[in-house]
Amino acid sequence: MNKSYIKCPNCGTENVNNDYCRTCGTIINVVLQRKLERERIEQTKLTARQNEKPSQVGAFLKKGENHSNIIIRAFFKVVYAIWFFFAVIIGGFIAAIISAAAG
Ligand SMILES: [Zn+2]
Repeated sequence: MNKSYIKCPNCGTENVNNDYCRTCGTIINVVLQRKLERERIEQTKLTARQNEKPSQVGAFLKKGENHSNIIIRAFFKVVYAIWFFFAVIIGGFIAAIISAAAG
């Protein structure tokens, strides 16, 4: 088995086959550190996405998609698709008016 000696950048302690410094607890495994950093960033992105509030119409229609009756569920899916389609069109229309007004 390979023995890897890693010197802690924080306190200078030599550690053998350890991910964390045995003296101060600093992460000394670079691979693990990068992995944790990546996971932390992913988690932050996920939290930000969850905090985005959907509009009331969108939320209402989304809730309908979880209805126990499959016909109502299908109906809500269609209405949601139509609503989403128009939301995009109206959004583009407003953007066009604003850009036209701005000259
Ligand atoms: Zn240390």
